Amino acid sequence: MNNNRRNKILKELDRIRKKDFTYESGHILGSMCTQPHPIAKQAYMKFLETNLGDPELFPGTKDIEKNLIDFISKLLNAPTSSTGLIMGGGTEGNITSMWLAKKLSGKKEIILPESAHFSFQKIASLTDMKLVPIPLDKNYSMDVDLVKGKISKNTAAIVGIAGSTELGTVDSIPDLSKICQDNDIFLHVDAAFGGYVIPFLKKLGHDIPDFDLKLKGVSTISIDAHKMGYSAIPLGTLIIKDKKWLDKISVEAACVSSKTQTGLMGTRSGGPVAASYAVTKYLGLSGYKKLIDNCMNVTYHTEKKLREIGLKPLIKPTMNVLGIKLKKPDVVVQELTKYGWKVNKIDRIGCIRLVLMPHVTQNIIDDFVIDLEKVCKQTGEL
Ligand code: PLP
Repeated sequence: MNNNRRNKILKELDRIRKKDFTYESGHILGSMCTQPHPIAKQAYMKFLETNLGDPELFPGTKDIEKNLIDFISKLLNAPTSSTGLIMGGGTEGNITSMWLAKKLSGKKEIILPESAHFSFQKIASLTDMKLVPIPLDKNYSMDVDLVKGKISKNTAAIVGIAGSTELGTVDSIPDLSKICQDNDIFLHVDAAFGGYVIPFLKKLGHDIPDFDLKLKGVSTISIDAHKMGYSAIPLGTLIIKDKKWLDKISVEAACVSSKTQTGLMGTRSGGPVAASYAVTKYLGLSGYKKLIDNCMNVTYHTEKKLREIGLKPLIKPTMNVLGIKLKKPDVVVQELTKYGWKVNKIDRIGCIRLVLMPHVTQNIIDDFVIDLEKVCKQTGEL
């Protein structure tokens, strides 16, 4: 390679990259992603060129994928009949699940909470399925009492969220599981964020109801390693209760080494798979438990600091997500950006959202709260 040319290109990339916010700075406070664990970066590079869309060329990488799916299946109490598919993230997990539900049922309505991720809007547009939203209760979880009344002969699936995008709330999946079993309806649990959190909160003694495939009514569950799994983008997994269902979303694959291909993606890198596998091996269950405990401690610290300046979270946090109700969240977000902080606003609720990811420390929160207080005073929130 021509060294001059290479250096020039790399310098240009460095210069452009400087425009980005970084997790390392600690100033990204509203994202559900984080800086991947260092071992994820090393593993990713080793598998950069591998293609799991053509698995017989890469049997070693395929083995790693199987090991990762086994780890996640065990984490989510999947039965032996189950299988898993690697996804680009939570959006693909939701799309694939609803594709499966539509094919299995031949029906087109999806009952889901108002807090469902906007990827369901894409699903409605892509697949011509109709969304039947269920209002939330006072704790910002799906009001499950309203679900039965919305079931019709057209219902293809019910969706519950375990770790909502807006506030990290968990819908009552045991109730949804019972409803789905009684009415023979497909149940998808969107645990894109909470999948790597709830199992460890339970181990830490938090009182959270079951949410995974331990419940007989759950059909699929999505979980993203590129969120709280501390791994590299893009990596989600969809665990499917019955591997026979895969026929419904498989096609004959003419020009790759395997006979069929399942799911949406064709060519896909083994890099993120190896990265996520390496993190699971490195951290193990005890490492994840510690990680979640740390994030929760930062969350409680944040809650305390907010109360000290006269702000309070919208609801008691279930996981490491905090919503703060404000009169003009968009103005506060804009002003905070001037101080170098990136937080998200949730228009539907009229709040700002903080996600206390592994890159956020108590010291960072202390600095942030000083600026937040200034901004809230400037803008008349305090
Ligand atoms: N589901 C939930 C609950 C989420 O919070 C998100 C993203 O934040 C998604 C799905 C979509 O995930 P992705 O952006 O990885 O596609």
